[in-house]
Amino acid sequence: MIKADFHIHTGDDPADTISYTTFELIDRAAELGYGAIAITLHDAQLEGAAYRAYAASRGIVLISGIERTVAGRHVLLLNFSRAAAGVATFDDLARLKRAEPGGLVIAPHPYFPASKSLLGDLERHANLFDAVEYNAMFTPIVNFNVLAARWARRHGKPMVGNGDVHRLEMLGTTYSLVDAAPDAASICSAVKAGRVTVVATPHTLFHAGMLMAKLVASTFSTSGTAQTPRPIRTPGIDLVG
Ligand SMILES: [Zn+2]
Ligand SMILES: [Zn+2]
Repeated sequence: MIKADFHIHTGDDPADTISYTTFELIDRAAELGYGAIAITLHDAQLEGAAYRAYAASRGIVLISGIERTVAGRHVLLLNFSRAAAGVATFDDLARLKRAEPGGLVIAPHPYFPASKSLLGDLERHANLFDAVEYNAMFTPIVNFNVLAARWARRHGKPMVGNGDVHRLEMLGTTYSLVDAAPDAASICSAVKAGRVTVVATPHTLFHAGMLMAKLVASTFSTSGTAQTPRPIRTPGIDLVG
């Protein structure tokens, strides 16, 4: 079984302020026994060769990925060519899937209360999604994944456990175990075939609150005195960024 996370942001992200580099993320993933990860920057596909080689040296398959904004909604596109970065509409996504059947399309945080969550677009475009995310940000009491799990069950879609990692400490509480050979194509096809198990540990309310506070604070992290704060989005939005 390969321990995997398909939704990770790093310091290369053009949209979010993130304190760790892609190399540091890979090191942490190796410490935690991950065998496969996808770095899914907002609307940018990571230049992969050097990172892929470094990950391989640490025993990790780096799957190419992007968290693409499609018609205003977040969608994870894995194991596609760079054409994934040009997908702007759900029609584009359908065309990409037809052209590159080895790619994997995941619905991230579909029912989290955030402006870029898929919500009704998941149902409207159900056939475009291969898997649904079980997002690490939940507590025993507050868990928006319940709706996603219900939807996945009803449509016979597999779920994957993802960290949507924005801080290193967010890696490791929720992840996927995939029954596949250690290469990107095999891992993606195993997920589509449902050979994946979600391991999900809730945060305590206290820890979830701490993470939210840190994530909001990092929105204001200074890079000089003439700081231009970016608009605060609700914790929900940043957490599921
Ligand atoms: Zn997102
Ligand atoms: Zn994200």
